[in-house]
Amino acid sequence: MKIPLVDLRAQYESIKDEIDAAIHRVLETSQFILGKEVEAFEEEFARYCGVRHAVGVSSGTSALYLALLALGIGPGDEVITVSQTFVATIEAILWVGARPRLVDIEEKTYNLDPSLLESAVTKKTKAIIPVHLYGHPADMDPILEIARKRNLTVIEDACQAHGALYKGKRVGGFGRVACFSFYPGKNLGAYGEGGAVMTNDAGLAVQIRKLRNHGGLSKYSHEILGMNARLEGIQGAILRTKLPYLDRWNELRRRHAEEYNSFFKGRGLGLPYEAPYAKSAYHLYVLRAPRRDELNATLNEQGVGSLVHYPTPNHLLPCFKGLGYKIGDLPVTEKVCKEVLSLPLYPELKLDQIRFIAEKTQDFYGQKARSALRGKTLSRR
Ligand SMILES: *Cc1c(COP(=O)(O)O)cnc(C)c1O
Repeated sequence: MKIPLVDLRAQYESIKDEIDAAIHRVLETSQFILGKEVEAFEEEFARYCGVRHAVGVSSGTSALYLALLALGIGPGDEVITVSQTFVATIEAILWVGARPRLVDIEEKTYNLDPSLLESAVTKKTKAIIPVHLYGHPADMDPILEIARKRNLTVIEDACQAHGALYKGKRVGGFGRVACFSFYPGKNLGAYGEGGAVMTNDAGLAVQIRKLRNHGGLSKYSHEILGMNARLEGIQGAILRTKLPYLDRWNELRRRHAEEYNSFFKGRGLGLPYEAPYAKSAYHLYVLRAPRRDELNATLNEQGVGSLVHYPTPNHLLPCFKGLGYKIGDLPVTEKVCKEVLSLPLYPELKLDQIRFIAEKTQDFYGQKARSALRGKTLSRR
């Protein structure tokens, strides 16, 4: 059996006619860059997140970069974030000329540990970027409280958490700004690159609209120094088509996570944790596994596309050497990094496939497959 980490083809097949029609609409109007489909998507995604403005941009990375630029963060400033994230969160801080200050995470949620925040704030700190990693929201209330007290801006990195809930409210509206990625493998994925910046601040939204479009809202009006970071028309049309399915797809991800959990429970593996304040979007199903690398290699040999997110903590990556971090600086991040393993997870995943992966995992540890689960106990609803 071959089971990829994500199956983009299966999702396309499930909504093929709608997607094909959406792409054709753009071909007919030939509004390939921004245009009506992007505008409509911006409105619909803003409404979905409960935020006033969404600005479609060329990727999650450019969303982070433009958000920092628009907030005026640059040389001499510090931005607090985590090492346990995708490299882009930290790249963006460095590209605006600011200095990332990396803090450790909570061992259970893998997200920024708010109890470490206060001591990381200096006179130079301007912003905090909590990352809703693997789809699980960061604990926003204490983060927002410290930000309020110390007059810091909060930028959510929501690139892995489309539709996740924090205390019943969708992420993307908690910070002054939030950034989303529509990389194809994300919970809401384009068929190419894409991203969005969310904010309730109309002035900031206009600034980001200008930055993404060579410094102006219309052609050849270059009011400020900008660049090209626009969302394409075809991506806007595809994202609009997929958005109405997002909640259903996230529910399926959650169901598959539960199915995995019931196979793995009580077998010496660390299962994903969901905090009482959180409803995770389950971007990834992440286990904590003894002999992680061996298990990963064994699963890969059997056609299972398991993967480590991420194999090296950012603070120890060669590209961030200049920041001067060393082994031991962020102990929880470093520990977690050696143990996490992401198993295939996507809405279209089948119970048979989950069972196959669970059995191969149990074989690896020399355990007997749980017989009760071979039958119908987990029949699909
Ligand atoms: C995917 C991702 C990004 C970057 O998004 P791209 O669209 O790939 O540029 C940033 N932060 C996190 C946490 C991500 O998962």
